[in-house]
This record gives sequence, structure tokens and C-alpha cells, in this order.
Amino acid sequence: MRDPRNVADLVARLNHGTYDDASSDGLKPAQWSALRYFANANRFSKTASAFAQYQGITAGAASQTIGGLVKQRLLKRTCDTADKRRHHLTLTTKAERLAEADPIGSLVAAASTLEESQRDATALGLSKMLAHLVLKRGGAIFGFCDDCEYLRCERRSGRADNYRCAQAEQALTEQDLDKICINFEAGEASA
Ligand code: SF4
Repeated sequence: MRDPRNVADLVARLNHGTYDDASSDGLKPAQWSALRYFANANRFSKTASAFAQYQGITAGAASQTIGGLVKQRLLKRTCDTADKRRHHLTLTTKAERLAEADPIGSLVAAASTLEESQRDATALGLSKMLAHLVLKRGGAIFGFCDDCEYLRCERRSGRADNYRCAQAEQALTEQDLDKICINFEAGEASA
């Protein structure tokens, strides 16, 4: 059986290994995390407060990271059509180009060397560790529609399935299903 310290040391070394290559693009690890978050978040989660909850960081720290990225023209702020006080953040074309050089690529290559069952077991263990840390810091657990109790699907013969979010009371597209969501609530199967 592995000592918990040994597991923690492996995670810390993986983290260092990832960001050794990051300096050439001039972005800090927190900024890369933010770009990755806004690329993967769904439309209900593209806000500074959702990012803070995802990372388990303070609103001030989140706004500092985001402000730097807006200044560098890597993130773009747009007003919510229903609530003008609310802003949505999206990647600019410059950021999308930069994302191709994301230092996480070396970690993705390392993860690709695992067999499928090893990847599933690793993902499960790491998710549990991360949830423990994020919840302790007052953050939230995000998830995908497929595992969420609010997903509704109307099957219609001969046509594409109709997806709907019962929480937001809005229709969902196929693309929405691939994004992480702050309003996620684990359904029975995934709880
Ligand atoms: S179904 Fe769940 S995860 Fe999907 S958009 Fe609705 S609340 Fe978010």
C-alpha cells in the first residue's frame, strides 16, 4: 500500500515537470489554468466567480489573474444580455493560438502512456484528492451534463436527441455536453 506522502510527492513532481517549459510563453501557471478553465467552461460558468470556485481561490486572486489576461488581450469580457452587472469571459483568437503551446501538453503525452484502466483509476484517485482540497477551501465541484441530475433528454425517433437543463431551464447543444458546469449536481449513477 502506498504512503499518502508518496502519492502527494508524485503529484507535486508532475506539477513541477509541467511548468518547467512554461516560461518561454511568459505566462504563470495560474494564468494557464485560467485559460484552460475558460476554454472548457460552459456558458453558465464563464464568470470570474465561477472560476474562483473552480480553483478554490478568493475572488480577489481570481480577479487579479483574469485582469492580467484581459490586459494581455487573451481574455475578452462581455456583458450578460439579461444582467448588465454580470460579465462573461471568453478566449480571444490570440489565446486560442497560444493554447496550442499549453505546457500541459507534456503531461497529456505522459498520461497517454497509461493503459485505459490505469487512466481511469488515476483520474478517479486524483479527482477525489482535488475535491477534498477544493471543498476545504470553499470551492465547488464541477462536472459534465452526462453525470448531472438536471440533464433531461427527449428521444425522438429518426431525429437528434433533444437535451435540456432543468436547472437553467434552457436547451443544451451537443457542444454544451462537453463543457464543465458550476451548477452540476451529481446524479444517482455518479454520486
Ligand atoms: S445539466 Fe447540469 S451540468 Fe448540464 S448545464 Fe445543467 S446544471 Fe450544468
